[in-house]
Amino acid sequence: MTASDTAPLMIRMEAVDKHFGQLHVLKDVNLQVPKGQVVVVLGPSGSGKSTLCRAINRLEPIDSGVIEIDGKPLPAEGKELARLRAEVGMVFQSFNLFAHKTIAENVLLAPVKVRKQPVAEARKTAMELLERVGIANQAQKYPAQLSGGQQQRAAIARALAMRPKVMLFDEPTSALDPEMVQEVLDVMTTLASEGMTMLVVTHEMGFARKAANRVIFMSDGEIVEDSAPDEFFTAPKSGRAKDFLGKIL
Ligand code: ADP
Ligand code: MG
Repeated sequence: MTASDTAPLMIRMEAVDKHFGQLHVLKDVNLQVPKGQVVVVLGPSGSGKSTLCRAINRLEPIDSGVIEIDGKPLPAEGKELARLRAEVGMVFQSFNLFAHKTIAENVLLAPVKVRKQPVAEARKTAMELLERVGIANQAQKYPAQLSGGQQQRAAIARALAMRPKVMLFDEPTSALDPEMVQEVLDVMTTLASEGMTMLVVTHEMGFARKAANRVIFMSDGEIVEDSAPDEFFTAPKSGRAKDFLGKIL
């Protein structure tokens, strides 16, 4: 047994089902992520990876089942939901920064508006976070003036500014030019090594091998495999995972 087997759970999903019309996109999903664990989610396009992430912070409502973050069920709406969303940071493929605000403003906006932090304090935290992701010198620029890699690092800093308990990444490097992928993965690897609980949808196998404690493989809305990265990459159990690995490796 490893330490994380006994750690309290950060994410608990039990018997989660979700349809889009006739399409059954999450099928009886059961997932327990202990605090501090880094889980990489793999699977073919359309297998439900984004829906899984979005369900976890309730950007998508689920049909049935239970989702708990840090021992508390997901609230349906209102103030409680806003609070929960603040605890679950999310970084998307498209960086979704506010185009008409500077990088620093992007990072301090939610702490000021949602957490009611004094502006001066939020600005100080924002600068520390931008330092951490290596773009403090870009703080006064607008998103369009930054490279894709820098924008994505700003998006990570913005999510961290809310002091989330868990971070969800949905293909954070898929929209980037190849030379910018590593700078974003490096920030994520550091975050992982600092003990952040992370769920990462990515096709970056180097990251999965280096930073993940666990790999989940989804196919057709189901978690088909759930194993240690080494085990998954060297000896996938299911035919579907073997097929998938054959195509991407
Ligand atoms: P993945 O991220 O693994 O590519 P998604 O979770 O985005 O998969 O999608 C799973 C399935 O649900 C796909 O068939 C997709 O077309 C469908 N889907 C996703 N979002 C919606 C939506 N808002 N309305 C209808 N169908 C959707
Ligand atoms: Mg997706």
